[in-house]
Amino acid sequence: MSADSATQSLTGASLKAALDSPGIGDAIYALASEIYPICRSITGEGVRDTLRALSKHAPIVQHEVATGTLVLDWTVPKEWVIRDAWIKNTAGERVVDFQKHNLHVLNYSTPIRATLPLSELKKNIFTLPEQPDLIPYRTSYYNERWGFCMSQNALDALPDGNYEVCVDSELKQGSLTYGEIVHRGASDEEVLFSVHTCHPSLANDNCSGMALLALLAGAMAKVKTRYTYRFLFAPGTIGAITWLARNGEAAKRIKHGLVMSCVGDRGGFTYKRTRRGNARIDRVMTRVLPGAKVIDFFPYGYDERQYASPGFDLDVGLFQRTQFATFPEYHTSGDNLDFITPDALAGSYRAIVSAINALENERRYLNTAPHGEPQLGRRGLYAAIGGDKDSYAKSMAMLWVLNLSDGDHSLEDIAERAGAELGVIEATAALLEESGLLKAL
Ligand code: ZN
Repeated sequence: MSADSATQSLTGASLKAALDSPGIGDAIYALASEIYPICRSITGEGVRDTLRALSKHAPIVQHEVATGTLVLDWTVPKEWVIRDAWIKNTAGERVVDFQKHNLHVLNYSTPIRATLPLSELKKNIFTLPEQPDLIPYRTSYYNERWGFCMSQNALDALPDGNYEVCVDSELKQGSLTYGEIVHRGASDEEVLFSVHTCHPSLANDNCSGMALLALLAGAMAKVKTRYTYRFLFAPGTIGAITWLARNGEAAKRIKHGLVMSCVGDRGGFTYKRTRRGNARIDRVMTRVLPGAKVIDFFPYGYDERQYASPGFDLDVGLFQRTQFATFPEYHTSGDNLDFITPDALAGSYRAIVSAINALENERRYLNTAPHGEPQLGRRGLYAAIGGDKDSYAKSMAMLWVLNLSDGDHSLEDIAERAGAELGVIEATAALLEESGLLKAL
């Protein structure tokens, strides 16, 4: 069945009312706070614990893909187990303690147990000299090594001498975990919403996105839609690649999509266009985010670049508040629960609901005589509009509606492109539909 013949989707106001609630910002914030302390990575128990927490709000199906599985050009890595990590001084006090902040351990660190002089230990310690009070977030997924992260100030405060170090971790044969929800609509055509689940205690990047998406999926379970919606909770890069490797057929049904990350900070919205740059989701997002910073696609960032790889070529944009890597708290302990707010989360949620509403409810038509321009005079259509002083504008509206009624452009898109009032475009479409030159989708 095509999306086009479905009629059961909720219309604007009722769809928004069904998905929204006054306390949505607080609810997203509470869920983000619940998952914030969990030590996540691209594999491991942290991802599973996170999905379990999110599953209280939405029917997430957990998938496990075994270590060593070939996924496109990649291989599912060994699973990382992290139990504890610390650096102790000679008095036996923990001067760096994973139990206090999980950013203290290099994500994917191999195990180590040793006593080392500070000068040696420093070779395995990461700091941010420019932001001396913050702990950096560092990973080493594909290069096996051990390490710690700490603030420059804390490192500078360590006296010379020997330190006992311990990373109680393991890299084992296990699996990669991702979560998925498919909300069936009247059509097989899909909208993909995807968030990365691999970052540990970083609130904006991406506890905010995971919590928002879980609550949105929970709310959507109760509404009927035209499109089928797929919600994907997967570790960055390797998770999206794993999903794509296993879902080539489903990927073909994805018509529109968004990656969401960093949706809880106090900054304004950022939208990164799809690779194509003028996809329907691009037009919808720029419309529902007036004043947003809109940037063109580039093949770095989050998983939009996997979905936009040429073999899949999916129209997936990136939705954020402040653009990643441009705020000083990015990938540091400064990206904590004070950095995100219920108001900002609610604003992001409502923007996504508006986008869903636009995808579901904006009217689109098909030109039934699309080869060459139909002869309007013969149908009395010039007569219908001729003779009044706006006739030029009305003729142009007619030509725009005929030209852009390709099934992809909505009346809103056409109005924007034509620089015409939506009301004029709607009236024109009604006239053309009456004459048989347009068919409503
Ligand atoms: Zn990140």
